[in-house]
Amino acid sequence: MNFQYWNPQIEKMPRRELEVLQLQKLKKEIDISLRTAFYKKRLAENGIKTSDDIKSIDDLKRIPFTTKDDLREGFPYGFLAIPKEDVVRLHSSSGTTGVPTVIYFSRDDIKNWADYMARCIYATGCNKNDVFQNMITYGLFTGGLGFHQGGEEVGMLVIPAGAGNTARQFKMMQDYGTTVLHATPSFFLHLETKMKEAGVARESLSIKRAFAGAEPYSEDTRKRIEVLLKVDVYNSYGLSEMNGPGVAFECQCKDGLHIWEDGYIAEIVNPDTLEPVKEGETGELVLTILCREATPILRYRTRDLTSFYSEPCGCGRTHRRLKRITGRSDDMLIINGVNVFPSQIEEVIMGMKEVGNNYLIVVEKDGALDRLTVKTEVNADTFMDDSRLLNALKEKISETLQVSISINPKVELHESGSLPISEGKAVRVQDTRPKDL
Ligand code: ADP
Ligand code: ZN
Repeated sequence: MNFQYWNPQIEKMPRRELEVLQLQKLKKEIDISLRTAFYKKRLAENGIKTSDDIKSIDDLKRIPFTTKDDLREGFPYGFLAIPKEDVVRLHSSSGTTGVPTVIYFSRDDIKNWADYMARCIYATGCNKNDVFQNMITYGLFTGGLGFHQGGEEVGMLVIPAGAGNTARQFKMMQDYGTTVLHATPSFFLHLETKMKEAGVARESLSIKRAFAGAEPYSEDTRKRIEVLLKVDVYNSYGLSEMNGPGVAFECQCKDGLHIWEDGYIAEIVNPDTLEPVKEGETGELVLTILCREATPILRYRTRDLTSFYSEPCGCGRTHRRLKRITGRSDDMLIINGVNVFPSQIEEVIMGMKEVGNNYLIVVEKDGALDRLTVKTEVNADTFMDDSRLLNALKEKISETLQVSISINPKVELHESGSLPISEGKAVRVQDTRPKDL
């Protein structure tokens, strides 16, 4: 494979040098953080008065974790480290799990972010000849502008399409000869359903690559999008607390996401004990940003579950890889005492070719017990009128799920395109059980 690097010196930097650079940047970030009301107090409580008190990356462990609640408590300006007149933009999280948090950017912060994004995009083989249709929400959400700036930095023609409206999306793809797409994985699946419905021929499109992220999805879902839309799909990970997209991204080996370690220090901890996990074990990702002066955030508990690869990547980049993020530690459902992650269900159903492109997990109370219902769409070319075959499919899904999650769910089959889809991140779970039991 012919790999290309946006910043070869940094991307292939020997690890020893990379660690020296990390320490340098960490010390700078500590000094920046000491200008915020929050960290000034937090660091002093832990015996850190200046960056001279940090002698190695390991010293980072002396600093307590920062949580989403801390960020909310600091709202609106508690985490601001530069004069307000030097702030040029703010973004805030989409608020999937409650009150949004706000992040400020200086002019240099925006430049840095665009540069990390360009690295990601370029690593997938894109270049300035590409036409990039960014089909994700613009606005406070970081996915829109983050990818937009990165695309421009690479020199691609960027179409700020925004999310939704599949008919308009197809029209733009045809009019401008789009070669690269960005959306959530659920939107890509929806797009394919709509493409069939609208009779858009794949040959009328020039798309080659697609970036899919902002929500968890399984390897089977990636394959499904790749086969159905005939594109190369790359996984993109980020969160607004760490700028947004551009934190970790797949290279052309498509086996794990490189996390840019000159911009972020990554730790993985056991979410219960908060101790580092052993190499290769799954745990919660904790991130420290090294490339932002307006809003420093140290040891942020992302809640996202992943693990490190220990082997180096075939592409020659030295920055470590993260396994596909399977979900958040707070996504876990407890159903009649059994722990289930929605990603386990997705893995099973998206691997079945008779199953369509959308699904919904419903958990309800049924007397004293919990009841799990898995609603899936059926592939458009499958037998919606043959009840014998439909029943056999229901049974197959239910039995396979039983083996994988140790719960026997009720399975409901729905026609292709009939389950609800959301414009932003997909809402896959409806848990209607009373909260305080
Ligand atoms: P919110 O926390 O309100 O959803 P963000 O827009 O900042 O706001 O979303 C970041 C979160 O989205 C991440 O912490 C992670 O849970 C999820 N996410 C983003 N990209 C991916 C990905 N490629 N795989 C799995 N989850 C992802
Ligand atoms: Zn690689």
